[in-house]
Parts: sequence; structure tokens; C-alpha cells
Amino acid sequence: MAITSNRAEQENNEFATGAITRWFLVLVVMATVTALTQTQSPAAADASPQPQAASFVGSIGELAQLEGLASRAAARAAQPEMQRVRAGVSYEVVVGPDRPDVYFTFDDGPDHRGVTDRVLDLLDAYDAKATFFVVGRAAEAFPEQIDRIVNEGHSLGNHSYSHPRLTSLSLADVRRELTRASDVLETLSGHEISCYRPPEAKVNDQIHAIAVELGIGNETWTAEWGSHWGLWDVDSWDWRGGRDRTLDALDTVVEGDVVLMHSLSDFSADIFDEWMSDNHDRFDFEVLPGCMTKPVR
Ligand SMILES: [Zn+2]
Repeated sequence: MAITSNRAEQENNEFATGAITRWFLVLVVMATVTALTQTQSPAAADASPQPQAASFVGSIGELAQLEGLASRAAARAAQPEMQRVRAGVSYEVVVGPDRPDVYFTFDDGPDHRGVTDRVLDLLDAYDAKATFFVVGRAAEAFPEQIDRIVNEGHSLGNHSYSHPRLTSLSLADVRRELTRASDVLETLSGHEISCYRPPEAKVNDQIHAIAVELGIGNETWTAEWGSHWGLWDVDSWDWRGGRDRTLDALDTVVEGDVVLMHSLSDFSADIFDEWMSDNHDRFDFEVLPGCMTKPVR
């Protein structure tokens, strides 16, 4: 009995001790949780979820952009010599130890606002060369700008005589537009014109066949018809305005790219200056090969 009693007592004692231990553990856990909550609260308040989410989205966007650039650059690096056809001419991009070549092109000059002169001044200041796809009628009006383009080592391309949409003309009129522009430019510059860019990028096989016949179109170009990619790689969007959009577009430029700009508005010259001030030492800016103007014999 006594033993039973002792056992019962002992069991009671063990039960009591076990209960105290369990309660103690529960209290310790609760105290720990409270302490952790209290110490974490200020930190959690400092790092509000909004900025975290914003920076996350931002970094993903930047990453995607960087990956896009990196994959384009990697594709080119894997193919050190590339035959490219742009703006109606074919040229070779050679990836080498020198600074990468890029080809800026300015459409629609010469102009009466002094934009072409400003662009030429900037090209001189940044020791850069470019290709000007000029309109024959404008060249007649501002021949001194044609002189500057050629004398300062840039090249001239045919951008038609009066800047019509060539695809809405008869083929006879297309021939007249292109022939007249080349004649005007060769007379004014004393140089042979060897490339063209159709206004508004509107072109088809028949129009291009005329250009080939006139010596300003490349015979291998037809594979890329109907796509702006056959005419340039980067549209700077300077024709629409918008500083951020234009700078974003220019920031995608990589080796071998043909860049579309215009010599029509101060915006183009301003944004070219702004981008060049940050990027002029990253690239060599060259005349589009195959678009070289050579003296008429
Ligand atoms: Zn144009």
C-alpha cells in the first residue's frame, strides 16, 4: 500500500515535474517568439514592401536588357567576320581588338534649320564619320552642306529627289526620282553615289531592281525585304522625339550596327550630342562600307 502510495506519489510528482517542465518550455517559446517579434518589428517597418518590390522589378528589367545586349554581343563574338547587308549595301563586320565600329546614318538633309551643320560640327568634335542619305531637291537648295559632308570625310547616299513614297509611284517615276537624285548629288559633290535608302523604308523587289541597275543597290539585299532590319539595325526614334526613348534606343547600339537618325530637327542634334558625350570613346564611328563616295573620273 505504502509502496503503491509512494509510487502514486512518485508518479504524481513526476507528472507535476513534467507539467512544470512543459509549461516552462511553453513560456520560453512564447517569450522567445515575443522577443523575436519585438526585435524584428522595427526592421520590418524600415524595409517597407513597396520599395523592395519596385527595386526587384527594376533589377529584373535591367537584367533582361543587359542579357539582351549580352546575347547580341555574344552572337557577334562567336562569328568574328559577318557579312551584313544594310541600307542597300553589303559590308563586312570584323570583330577585332580595336574599338567596335558602328555606322551612324542621317536621313533627310540638307536642311534650312542648320541641323546638318550642327551634326557635322558634332561629328568633327567627336572625331566621328557618318553617312548622309540626302534628298536631291534639298541638296540643290543647300549645296554648301553637300560640300561639307564630302570634304569632311563622310559619305552621301541617295534618298530620292523629292522624298516620295516610292511604292506609290509608277516604276518610271521611281526611276526618275532615283536617277535625278544621283545626278544632282554627283554634280554637286563630284563623287559617285553608290547606295540609297528608300524614303519611309518603303521598297519592293521592282524598285530595288531599278536601284541595282542604277548602281546604288546591292544585288544580295533582297533577302531582307519589307523589314526595317534590312535598312538599319537601330532606329533612334529621333523622328518622334522623346529624350528617354531615344537615349534608350541608342543605348542598345552594339558592334556593326547601322543607326538611323535624321538631320531635320534640333532635337536630333541635341540628343546625338548628349549620347556621344557619354559614348564617343566606346566605338569607332565610320562611314557605312559599300556606301563610300568616290570621285567621279
Ligand atoms: Zn526620309
